[in-house]
Amino acid sequence: MPTDQTIGELLATATAPTFSFEFFPPKDEAGQQLLTKTIGELEPLCPDWVSVTYGANGSSRQRTLDATMAILQTTDFRVMGHLTCTGQSVDELKAVIDAYGDAGVRNILAIRGDMPGGPSVPWERYPGGLANATELVELVRSRGDFCVGVAAFPDGHATSTLEQDAEILLGKQQAGASFAVTQLFFEVGHYFELVGRARSAGCTLPIVPGIMPVTSVKQLGRFAEMSGADIPARVAERLLAAPDDPAQVRITGSQIAAELCERLLAGRAPGLHFFTQNRSVATREILAMLRGDHR
Ligand SMILES: Cc1cc2nc3c(=O)[nH]c(=O)nc-3n(C[C@H](O)[C@H](O)[C@H](O)COP(=O)(O)OP(=O)(O)OC[C@H]3O[C@@H](n4cnc5c(N)ncnc54)[C@H](O)[C@@H]3O)c2cc1C
Repeated sequence: MPTDQTIGELLATATAPTFSFEFFPPKDEAGQQLLTKTIGELEPLCPDWVSVTYGANGSSRQRTLDATMAILQTTDFRVMGHLTCTGQSVDELKAVIDAYGDAGVRNILAIRGDMPGGPSVPWERYPGGLANATELVELVRSRGDFCVGVAAFPDGHATSTLEQDAEILLGKQQAGASFAVTQLFFEVGHYFELVGRARSAGCTLPIVPGIMPVTSVKQLGRFAEMSGADIPARVAERLLAAPDDPAQVRITGSQIAAELCERLLAGRAPGLHFFTQNRSVATREILAMLRGDHR
């Protein structure tokens, strides 16, 4: 598959589900070494694309650009850079978009970002900034030949109704987005209901489910807070069955994620996007389970 094809083009023509990995920009040398090791371990799996997150208020701007460029220079990955519009002026956003373009990044995930404190804290537009992700999609598209992805929410966004979410997703498509990637979720039905609401609203974007394997008990509460995702009691119970055995918790988390992935693929989800947390073990375990190597 040629890497010069954008993610939108790939999703429009793919004959099999795509799979992709998300990383965050490392904060220090130890983090960089971990990311380099993780990328080396995931490279043989030949993901369709990888992405690098961006600090909500531009705080990680340079680190995101550096990590993105390092991946471009050292791998054959198709790379997507994230971009948020919280806490930044339009001029600052244009500079980042142009830096992505100069580095050869053709795919950008245009998201709003949250205020410090998370998605439920009332969001404030930065002076001279944009009002929402839809305006960011327009801005990115106006700066060059970029393929733009956007966020979608199987459990709904903290500050809107499910129906508003579907209308907002349609607006992002009309603004020039080519695909969506979802927030983490645990109820497979919520993903298919999101797709159904989007289609009823007239939105035809491929919606790639985001998969977050829970690798420790501590993460359970944190993920719910970060994403608003409902963690079903049966999922929490399975993870809490052996809370003092970290390896068992990780394996159970991978099994839960693999079961979710199987049901998503059986329902014809266009791909799977793994939030790797810059580690490879759980993602490799899940992919091996899906391929039947671990049963
Ligand atoms: C796959 C994925 C990757 C992410 N990566 C990052 C990252 O790298 N960095 C980061 O900081 N965050 C990231 N996020 C989190 C994201 O920034 C938050 O979820 C944020 O709260 C919403 O972003 P959005 O792009 O959906 O915003 P928007 O589409 O702007 O929506 C946010 C809310 O604003 C309101 N709204 C939006 N448009 C309109 C409109 N036209 N009219 C009225 N109301 C409107 C709605 O209430 C909506 O729920 C990611 C999320 C996902 C799903």
